[in-house]
Amino acid sequence: MDIRLNNLTMVFDDITAVDQITTTIKDGELVSLLGPSGCGKSTTLMLLSGLYKPTSGQIFFGDQDVTKMDAEKRGIGMVFQNYALYPHLSVLKNIMFPLKMKKVPKKEAMERAKEMAELVQIGHLLDRKPGQLSGGQQQRVAIARALVKKPNVLLLDEPLSNLDARLRLEMREEIRRIQQEVGITAVFVTHDQEEALSISDRVMLMKSGVIQQESRPQEMYKRPENEFVASFLGNPPINLLTMKKIENGYQLEKSAHSLLFSNLATYPKSIRVGIRPEDFFVTKDNPRFTGEIIHIETIGRDTLIRMQIGDTTIRALVDPVHQLKVGATCGLDGKEENIHFFDSASGQRIE
Ligand code: ATP
Repeated sequence: MDIRLNNLTMVFDDITAVDQITTTIKDGELVSLLGPSGCGKSTTLMLLSGLYKPTSGQIFFGDQDVTKMDAEKRGIGMVFQNYALYPHLSVLKNIMFPLKMKKVPKKEAMERAKEMAELVQIGHLLDRKPGQLSGGQQQRVAIARALVKKPNVLLLDEPLSNLDARLRLEMREEIRRIQQEVGITAVFVTHDQEEALSISDRVMLMKSGVIQQESRPQEMYKRPENEFVASFLGNPPINLLTMKKIENGYQLEKSAHSLLFSNLATYPKSIRVGIRPEDFFVTKDNPRFTGEIIHIETIGRDTLIRMQIGDTTIRALVDPVHQLKVGATCGLDGKEENIHFFDSASGQRIE
């Protein structure tokens, strides 16, 4: 089922937690709400669930305006960070619980719960209590319980935060598999960029209650629409260099280092140039950046170097084959299509 948000706004006292969000989530899509703490992700999810009612704006599920509809009537399945299972009930009874509330006959409820348990691969654990399960298994129970009512929409609020790194990876693949098998529209809240980029059809990156960019994961990474998006995604983070216009190009602030780009004639006087560490390469052939290497460390199969040019430090991931040394001078360049330009004043992408 499609979800449409129209100027959705939530104000708490003096804080606008969600600020005029207008967007559509398509039927069967998994969309992540991503952003730093306090950006309004959880509030948006609470508004979708019906547990909060917005200050203004509308929410549509399909053609139906559900803005004022109570949570239990919306056909929502929810999964939380802390699983929220009933500790005294068995796995089977936990999954059956929403059906019991709906007064579904016991035999049918049991069959449906078992079917769901198979789908999330905990069919062999039905008699256990939650306390006898691992974190990942508990989260599987929570997912089965959320889906057993055949909801229209699945809402997941940081569902992987309590799992260790390995299990997190496994469970995010599982959530994606289950969501696709069921074909349900899902909204996934996370502050973890890697999680959002790997699990979603689309990512909505929020800041201060406003969606900064919504796009496919690859596109958001490759073509950030503003400086905030560019710097939020990527680890090690993107280099953002302040440059001023000179006669035939741009000059790095507080340095004699000048840069020539092919098509900057119409760009503003001051720009920010963004280059991701992995988009640099080492070269002796007329490099755009030359400076002294001040630090080297090994990250996986790459070498991370820090290079000083005037007051500016650049981080670059380079091939260990170059055998660079601290104190040596090095030339770095990047392909023009991997160099991002932002207006210093507005932070918005140029072009
Ligand atoms: P986190 O990742 O830390 O959970 P978030 O992105 O989910 O953050 P929200 O919890 O939606 O952010 O909060 C957005 C803003 O609204 C914050 O400034 C928060 O302090 C405020 N806020 C959230 N809930 C309430 C509330 N019930 N009363 C008052 N202010 C609130």
